[in-house]
Amino acid sequence: GFNCGIVGLPNVGKSTLFNALTKNDIPAENYPFCTIDPNVGIVPVPDPRLDELARLVKPNKVVPTTMEFVDIAGLVSGAAQGEGLGNQFLAHIRETDAIAMVVRCFEDEDVHHVSGSIDPVSDIETIATELALADLDTLNKALQRQERAAKSGDKQAVGMRDLLERVRDGLDSGSPVRALDLDEESRHKLKEFHLLTNKPLMYIANVAEDGFAENPLLESVQQRAAAEKAEVVPVCAAIEAELAVLEDADRAEMLSAYGLDEPGLNMVIRAGYRLLGLQTFFTAGPQEVRAWTVTAGSTAPQAAGKIHSDMQRGFIRAEVTSFDDLVSCGGEQGAKEAGKMRLEGKEYVLQEGDVVHFRFNV
Ligand code: GDP
Repeated sequence: GFNCGIVGLPNVGKSTLFNALTKNDIPAENYPFCTIDPNVGIVPVPDPRLDELARLVKPNKVVPTTMEFVDIAGLVSGAAQGEGLGNQFLAHIRETDAIAMVVRCFEDEDVHHVSGSIDPVSDIETIATELALADLDTLNKALQRQERAAKSGDKQAVGMRDLLERVRDGLDSGSPVRALDLDEESRHKLKEFHLLTNKPLMYIANVAEDGFAENPLLESVQQRAAAEKAEVVPVCAAIEAELAVLEDADRAEMLSAYGLDEPGLNMVIRAGYRLLGLQTFFTAGPQEVRAWTVTAGSTAPQAAGKIHSDMQRGFIRAEVTSFDDLVSCGGEQGAKEAGKMRLEGKEYVLQEGDVVHFRFNV
């Protein structure tokens, strides 16, 4: 599966959020370096469309799709030089597909801040610098290899060397790799280096209970993020921690007391899902209504393969109705009669929200 690594300086609320996300009981202690091993959580993706499908189909059960979050140990400056937990941190982050950076936008004298003051943009710079330094290190090592090969007449190495030099110069002048103007082929070539600043990035701004509006710390993060075209999801980790352990009725009451529509974590999960370039399709029958995940651009047989490899191997065709059509036609029968159910073959590229029946040979 695809995963999103939760990173941030110590004491910004990572563990609190991760625990709320997974409802696991991983200790969130008030001191740096408490979360050393990366913790993986499989999190259901909240999707109101499942409830609507269930209302139409009345299945025995409803199964959401999931995505993975990894809680990665706190970073300190100097990581790229191998200080503290630095190397471990970078190794773990290298294995994730996207980065959710938690930044602290709440004041609390009882919660120690590693650099002594609350300044989320400076925290972002600290982490961005460590990631950039790690990438420079990777690039310089790779460049040495390509230069040797280029000198001995390897044409491919010449092209790679030029690309790596461009990327290094971009990083040197302060641009993360994800923001560089590179064509598709160059991006593809860079994949093997697993560059950290090339991973998709979003911010989780951890605010105080009353910190969603008129919060200069949050606004500074939003400004920074806008400049990088990154998404910011404001949450209050303390509220999320409470919500996570409540029964549904109590949760609804607490949300309305805070004037919130839904838990902030729902937004975090959906933002992470988008960041990873994932999309959802549904299967709906009397046994179960279920959401499944594919990467955007997947074909019908690839989607079938998410359910069972036999369905991909023996794929014949897919009967596809868009979620909206299914709902507006009042269900499958209505959609069929209105000509909204399409028969699609193996070249069909799935669209967000497709409701699919696969036909296959066994
Ligand atoms: P981590 O080091 O980033 O994993 O941070 P933790 O989740 O362990 O949180 C550090 C401390 O900050 C803990 O004492 C938390 O209870 C506290 N904390 C986390 N989120 C909030 C919040 O939204 N408001 C306040 N006041 N404290 C928080």
